[in-house]
Amino acid sequence: MQSTSSSHHTPVLIVGGSLVGLSAALFLAWRGVPVTLIEKHRGSALHPRATGFTERTLEIFRMVGIADAVPQVAPGTRLRRVRADSLAGAWQAETAWTPGEQAERTGTASPCTGAAIAQDRLEPILRAAAIGHGADLRLGVEMLSFAQDDGGVSVLVRPRDNSAAYTIRADYVIAADGAGSAIRTVLGIERQGVGHLRTLRSVLFRCPAADAWLERGVQQFDIEQPGFKGFLTTYGDSRWVLMFDDDRERSAAELADAVHRALGSDLPFEILATGRWELAGRIAQAYRQGRIFLAGDAAHQLPPTRGGFGANTGIDDAWNLAWKLQWVVSGRSHARLLDSYDAERRPVGWLRHQQTFARPDYARWVNHALHGEPLYGSTALELGQLLRSEAVIGAGAALQPAAHPDEWAGQPGTRAPHLWLRAGTRTLSTLDLFGAGFVLLTADRLWAEAADGVAGTLAITLRAVLVGVDVEAADGQPIQPRLGIHDDGATLVRPDGIVAWRSPGMADDPAACLAAVLAQVAALRTDE
Ligand SMILES: Cc1cc2nc3c(=O)[nH]c(=O)nc-3n(C[C@H](O)[C@H](O)[C@H](O)COP(=O)(O)OP(=O)(O)OC[C@H]3O[C@@H](n4cnc5c(N)ncnc54)[C@H](O)[C@@H]3O)c2cc1C
Repeated sequence: MQSTSSSHHTPVLIVGGSLVGLSAALFLAWRGVPVTLIEKHRGSALHPRATGFTERTLEIFRMVGIADAVPQVAPGTRLRRVRADSLAGAWQAETAWTPGEQAERTGTASPCTGAAIAQDRLEPILRAAAIGHGADLRLGVEMLSFAQDDGGVSVLVRPRDNSAAYTIRADYVIAADGAGSAIRTVLGIERQGVGHLRTLRSVLFRCPAADAWLERGVQQFDIEQPGFKGFLTTYGDSRWVLMFDDDRERSAAELADAVHRALGSDLPFEILATGRWELAGRIAQAYRQGRIFLAGDAAHQLPPTRGGFGANTGIDDAWNLAWKLQWVVSGRSHARLLDSYDAERRPVGWLRHQQTFARPDYARWVNHALHGEPLYGSTALELGQLLRSEAVIGAGAALQPAAHPDEWAGQPGTRAPHLWLRAGTRTLSTLDLFGAGFVLLTADRLWAEAADGVAGTLAITLRAVLVGVDVEAADGQPIQPRLGIHDDGATLVRPDGIVAWRSPGMADDPAACLAAVLAQVAALRTDE
């Protein structure tokens, strides 16, 4: 690596400032971890990609306080797709939003609904929030090379205004540098999966007059005419995108003609940009090498689906990693806590890959169809994936990889279930209790007192929430069975809202029991 005159030290450096890198910066800064992010572009891409964000992503945004800034779809909104001659022409038939879907969403599993917001409108929200929490965002700065050693990672960067290159020395690096990740390539981490499927082109255009068609409640249109096919959808802000089923370069006149055909009328429009996208399924064989972590498309390339597995999966990666880095960087946890990132997130990426290609719409792309792969419902995949690692106790090998949160009933390794609660005059979700540190949910004072004692002895953020005193269920039903515990039991929830462990009943020595559990799931440095 070239030597440079100046250098900068940061506990965590993020390379890549798109959806996943910016989310990681926000989550770390919100947790008080000093973080630097470099992104080679100064702003968002002209042609947004992602627009569909899931309930889980919104839950995470809610925990860090930005959900209100992201417009969420009205509860009960049904997303719909039709096969049509054109937008203004005949609509032939409605097709399944998520082909192969088994269970309809009930809408009661989350305090949030999903959001439809263009990537280039969400990214400024993430940027502002990350900066607001103290993240050092360096836009227009490119990574040139890196080298890691036992003590850290040295990253050579160059501002794109042609000022001098300099080195950033980081304790840890998050590679959020996209599907073509140079970091992953240099590390020699291979990827598995169905691989390249095809390359597609698109045209982005503004057409406010077309928005009137959305009043019929359909958002996606498979356009089929003799000699012409395309997929038409909207970013919900008068910008529309027409995706072609091929990789052919089109002239301006051809693009205008195609938009005109897809609209099926003389509505005025303005072409804004074109895009070229690779449709592929690839999952990295390791999400971590030494002090470097892969997140987002750098770790998993998944084709667009109505489940929106791309960016949403990456944002959840960042959320999973952020508290672990916080606890390690602050010295509370041993670095081995970071091993749980790969152990927990790689199977999630892989399951989503398998589920994508087991569904009828993508099964046609893979010759060796993933026969026999059971299909899990969207709610199970999004809100009910099971994580197994040393940071969870009680997620046995025999358990299935995903299920509806109601079925899990507080199973360790899954997201703690959402229940509406009352605390005095306030209504809140169970999820509103999580985020800052560990939380012990119990209806038994002995456990609560044990938690208070352990928090003091171990000097960690551990809060006891006494069910029946601090909170009660808004529906008046007992909370404990929905957490899989008895009245004298307790459930320990991690800072990322995942159930770390539960005790169905009272332990002989609750304080000793809790201290031992925390020592394992948080890899506490109790020996120093
Ligand atoms: C047409 C389309 C529609 C999609 N729709 C959805 C959807 O609705 N919902 C969803 O969840 N997902 C969707 N996806 C997938 C989603 O867009 C991606 O999963 C997501 O953008 C990945 O984010 P990322 O931050 O990991 O990577 P990227 O968005 O690829 O960002 C990587 C960033 O790293 C930067 N970078 C790379 N190298 C360097 C370097 N050397 N130095 C500095 N910076 C560097 C790049 O400039 C870039 O900004 C869609 C994808 C496509 C193609």
